[in-house]
Amino acid sequence: MTRSIISLNSGSSSIKFGLYHLEEQGPVHVAGGKLEGIGTAPRIRIHSDTGEILLEKSWGEGTKDGGAGLTHEPLLSELYDWAHDHLQDHAIVAVGHRVVHGGGRYWAPRLIDEALVAELDTFSPLAPLHQPHNLAAIREIARKAPHLVQVACFDTGFHHAMPGVATRLPLPRAYAARGMRRYGFHGLSYEYVSARLATLDPALAQGRVIVAHLGNGASLCAMRGGASVDTTMGFTALDGLIMGTRTGMLDPGAVIHLQLQEGLSAHEVESMLYRRSGLLGLSELSSDMRSLHASDDPRAAEAIESFVWTAARQMGALMVSLEGLDGLVFTAGIGENDPVIRAAICARLAWTGLVLDEAANAANAPVISSPESRVIVRVIPTDEERQIALHTFSLTQPFMDAAKGDS
Ligand code: ADP
Repeated sequence: MTRSIISLNSGSSSIKFGLYHLEEQGPVHVAGGKLEGIGTAPRIRIHSDTGEILLEKSWGEGTKDGGAGLTHEPLLSELYDWAHDHLQDHAIVAVGHRVVHGGGRYWAPRLIDEALVAELDTFSPLAPLHQPHNLAAIREIARKAPHLVQVACFDTGFHHAMPGVATRLPLPRAYAARGMRRYGFHGLSYEYVSARLATLDPALAQGRVIVAHLGNGASLCAMRGGASVDTTMGFTALDGLIMGTRTGMLDPGAVIHLQLQEGLSAHEVESMLYRRSGLLGLSELSSDMRSLHASDDPRAAEAIESFVWTAARQMGALMVSLEGLDGLVFTAGIGENDPVIRAAICARLAWTGLVLDEAANAANAPVISSPESRVIVRVIPTDEERQIALHTFSLTQPFMDAAKGDS
């Protein structure tokens, strides 16, 4: 019987997932998709590797609160049941999860047990938008299928070897001992893109490269020889670039002002900085870049201008960490699909000798810089689910070998 694994990337309002068969050479993708709109109007779409739609469903009429009342757990349960039925003669043997925060203790992917989940829960206040949902998915799978091996893959992991100077927060030292340091996030995406770049352009991968992960969440990673040496997210995933609903870097005095002068509670400030700021806060229209492009409201244009300015400005900072720049890689929803944003960011970097090939950029081509450009600019689609599958495969393999030996 062929063995299969599921990769789960469980966020606040969506769950991305992939199904893989375990072949000798590694995980082979067979299906994937996204469950979106959790908490409002849930809908799921699953497609095969050849693009065929295998399942399309939305929870509206006739469901509790028209679907809005459905939490992660029942939706995940339905997704698991679908995978189980769909795979028929393939046994699901493991589930790999994206876990946003590994704290100061965990960076390498790990097998999950109850004690680990309890410890990871203590990091939830550090990633309130993500960690509770990551752990809810682990608990739900453990409840439904207690026999499965589960693997935690940490978003902080890729950055754990950053130089000390990139990890320190300038607070009284005692707080560092209590875990207050810069961690960095989007590590599974960066790990995947770093490996892809090593295959596509080994010489560039050895050099000084900034990878721009621009999605709803957005960050930059400075890589030298494929390893992270600096990144824009820090202690939490709130730092760095302007995001869909998050502020990114913000004067800490503004946070104090909101509480002391504007009278907001700490929880109200937290909710505002994570959920009502960024592109949404600036535009008062949408957190979604496509909607902002489609609008002729001047607030949408200003939100886009700020997004671009902040991204380019922080690229400048990472160039100092790298002592130069050989390559720039765009990835994630905006990075992979939005030539307007890429062109605007690159225009602000023209002083580095970066020259964009406009036609290649418009076509989302793999290389979008001109031959004469001093900086090579690439578009590399990310695949966090595949990275989770690769880690899950390596950690699950010993069990499989043992099982083979038994039979
Ligand atoms: P998440 O962080 O939720 O994984 P994604 O990587 O899917 O986010 O990115 C979502 C963002 O990408 C949204 O702002 C969306 O508008 C933008 N995006 C996705 N596709 C396109 C596209 N074809 N053109 C422009 N923007 C896009």
